[in-house]
Amino acid sequence: MNPSAPNAAQALWELVHEGPRLGFGPLSLSPKLQGIELRHALDDQAADGSLGSVDRAGLRALAQSDALGRFRPNKAAPNLVRGWRHQVADAAALESALDDLLPGGLTDWHALRTGSASPVAWQDFVDRQTGMYRQVPSLDEPQAEQVARAGCHPKCCLRRRFWTIRARGPEAPAGKTIVPCLEPCALVLELARREQKASVSEERSQLILNQGELTLLDQLFDRAIDAPDRALREGDLSEPLNPRRVLLLREKLLPWLPMRE
Ligand code: SF4
Repeated sequence: MNPSAPNAAQALWELVHEGPRLGFGPLSLSPKLQGIELRHALDDQAADGSLGSVDRAGLRALAQSDALGRFRPNKAAPNLVRGWRHQVADAAALESALDDLLPGGLTDWHALRTGSASPVAWQDFVDRQTGMYRQVPSLDEPQAEQVARAGCHPKCCLRRRFWTIRARGPEAPAGKTIVPCLEPCALVLELARREQKASVSEERSQLILNQGELTLLDQLFDRAIDAPDRALREGDLSEPLNPRRVLLLREKLLPWLPMRE
């Protein structure tokens, strides 16, 4: 058991009671007369009666799969099942619930704010990799930045990336929550491995498109990212239409795509 966890849970308990609600990864935490209620952040405005009550024993299973039954390798992804709520009566129960719904989230949040842990630097992290990941360090800085922006995009993950690439700072907070990410996860490392491999083994082409075609391409990106094929699994990065791979391609073309708000 992490010895800092009771302190962390108590600190979060107090923070939640300061406001009407707090986004924490894919969760919304809101103070109630008898404690704190957890639900999916997208169910923030849902009437209590429209949500099913989930007890402590049901939380772990809830976090394992998305609404289509596909395994969720990243518990901070927005693809958490909706339509439920769970109430906790004290900080210890909050800690237990978060252990099941978002493992490591509470510990990382507390560690960053108390200074007891620091985010890693990308280069230090990849320099330690061996085996199939031993070539990842050869990605240059812009490539690594593109991988990070695509892999950690708010459509894929609601932790805020604090690990950094060279002198670039943490990820912007927009679209993210107070749950920090202190080191690259396996999904991002795999995306980086594929990118490094493709960059040295595949020929480059030049492409000239007009504005209308670029707008169409941007719309196709949106469709592939927002409504991916139901057969796709989040962790299967061998699939070209995996949203993280589509986001990475989009990152590379961003300078030419229509400006967004
Ligand atoms: S590395 Fe990125 S995608 Fe993975 S947990 Fe951290 S912020 Fe999320």
